[in-house]
Formats: sequence, C-alpha cells, structure tokens
Amino acid sequence: MTRTTAAPHDEPPRRSRLLRTTTVAAVLVPLCLAGWLGWQAVADRGRDDTGAAHAAGAAAAPPSGPFSAAPFSAPAGTAPPGAPGGAADPPAAAQAAPTADPTAAPTASESAGSATALAGRTVLIDPGHNPGNAAHTTEINRQVDIGNARKECDTTGTSTNAGYSEAEYTLDVSRRARAILTARGATVVLVQDGDQSWGPCIDARAKAGATAHADAAVSVHGDGGPPGGSGFHVIMPAKVVAGTADNSAIVAPSHRLGLLLRDSFHAATGEPYADYIASQGLDTRSDLGGLNLSTVPKVFIECGNMRNSTDAKRMTDPQWRQQAAQGIADALTAFLTTR
Ligand code: ZN
Repeated sequence: MTRTTAAPHDEPPRRSRLLRTTTVAAVLVPLCLAGWLGWQAVADRGRDDTGAAHAAGAAAAPPSGPFSAAPFSAPAGTAPPGAPGGAADPPAAAQAAPTADPTAAPTASESAGSATALAGRTVLIDPGHNPGNAAHTTEINRQVDIGNARKECDTTGTSTNAGYSEAEYTLDVSRRARAILTARGATVVLVQDGDQSWGPCIDARAKAGATAHADAAVSVHGDGGPPGGSGFHVIMPAKVVAGTADNSAIVAPSHRLGLLLRDSFHAATGEPYADYIASQGLDTRSDLGGLNLSTVPKVFIECGNMRNSTDAKRMTDPQWRQQAAQGIADALTAFLTTR
C-alpha cells in the first residue's frame, strides 16, 4: 500500500502479557504443528512456482464471476527436510514441544489443523492491487465512493527497489494462504487470482466479502514506507457511518481478528512490529474503502516495508512468503474456531 498522509494511531486496550502469551501459545502451537505439515506439503512446490504455477493457476481459474475460488490440489510428492530441493527447517514456533496434557480432550483450536476444522466456513482473501494495474492507469484512477470520501479505484502499489512488485507479492502469499485454509476445509475466495487485467476497484473488493458470504476477510499488502523503517502492521477498521458506508457491525470482530493476525503473523515469520508506523503492530484507519465498505469482519496486513532492504530480502524469499501465508491462515483459523 502507499499513502499520502500519516495514518492515525489507535492502540487497543492492552491485555496482560502473560494472558496474551498463554492464549497465543494455546492457539498457535497446535496450529503451527499442523501448519508445518501443510507447509511441508506445499513448500517444494512453492520454491519454484512463482512463475509457472501462477500461469497455471490463472488458466485453471473458473471462467464465471469476478471472483475465484480454486480448489486445493496436493503436490505429487515432497522432499524430506534437508534433502536437495527439499524444505528447510520449519519456523522456530513449529519446533516447540507441546506442553498440554496429552490426555485432555482436544479443544477447538487443537483440532484446527484437521481437514474438516473449517468445513462450512468461507474466507475471503484480498490480494492487494493487481499486477496489471500499471498498464491500466485510466481505469484505476477513476474515483469511487468509500462512504466518507472519494478515492482512486485502485493503485499500482509499491515494489522493492529491485522491482519485485507488491501486486506479485500479495497474489503469491494469498495463493499460499488459500492452499493452507482449503486443506483445513474452508471455502476460500480470492478477490482476484491473476485472472483480471486490472483491479478490481476498492469498493468492489470491500463488497466481495458479502457476495461470497464470507465469515472473515483479510487484505494482503506490502508497504512502501521510508527506507529506514521496517516491520509489519495490521490495520483494523475505525467505525465509519457515512454515506453508503456503515461498518459498525464489524468493528469489534475485526478488532479480534486483527489481534489474532498480529500475534500469528509475528509468530510465524519472526517479523518485528513496524518501527515507523502504527503502535505494537496495530493501526486503525477510516480512510480505506476496503474496510469502510466491508460488512464482514476484515483487516489489512502490511506484511513488511518493501522499500526497506531487510524486509525486501524477506519478502522476495518464497520460504518467508510461505511463513507469511501460514501466519495469515493460522489467524483466520483461530478466528473461526475460537471465541
Ligand atoms: Zn498495498
């Protein structure tokens, strides 16, 4: 995402660190263990699929409707950890030994990694921007209504200094998250799957959640911040009741989703909280059409600062992008399986 004005900061009520750590551990350890298995299943494919698999995914996308929900297909085989071409060590969180009583009945979160944990649930993933936007400036510069203002239909997004675009990044991470969530039984809808020449506009992205009857939505972005700043942050909706916008019903659940995403993404990637914007990795904004106009719980995540050399190195690494997808998928899973 790029912006022209400083975003307002709005830190949510602090929870006790002990409570937060205990809660996160209870949710994330089983998720990470289960997720690591899924990561193993797709990591080998993910290492070299950034070009070919995207083209295949676009070709396989259903022709009807503006949005795409492609089924998960398991790779033909996986290489063992450490083998040539195989996956590297899993994230540190995945190596932590479970400490729960093994005789205790499984909780909702402990069974979240199963193939049916998210059965009947629908998730909307919004890959920010579109690789084709740069070639359609007239279309994306059109003004659309976001309730409390008018704003460009979409933007090109940012890129690393070496030219890896935000739109490529968001589409790749979104597809990886879709694979994880589909393996857990969810129906996953992508707002765009490389199957549209530009856009869609931000108002359509917001309304896609309701169209899909989604239980939750995440918009994936990479930031274009100052080169000296690094880290990630989650953006939650401020209450906006203006014009055609009324997101008052989703503010509270989106806040819960935002906290889960902040903690889950941090655990999965090791990425620090942004040191140049937001507070403790959290921001609340009223200037984003994707949040103002949403009627399903939704947050944005700026996964890192693509203009920062450290973050750019991570975001261009397919293995790190898999961890990013894991963090997003785990947060959505926790949101849908806990209260
Ligand atoms: Zn963006």
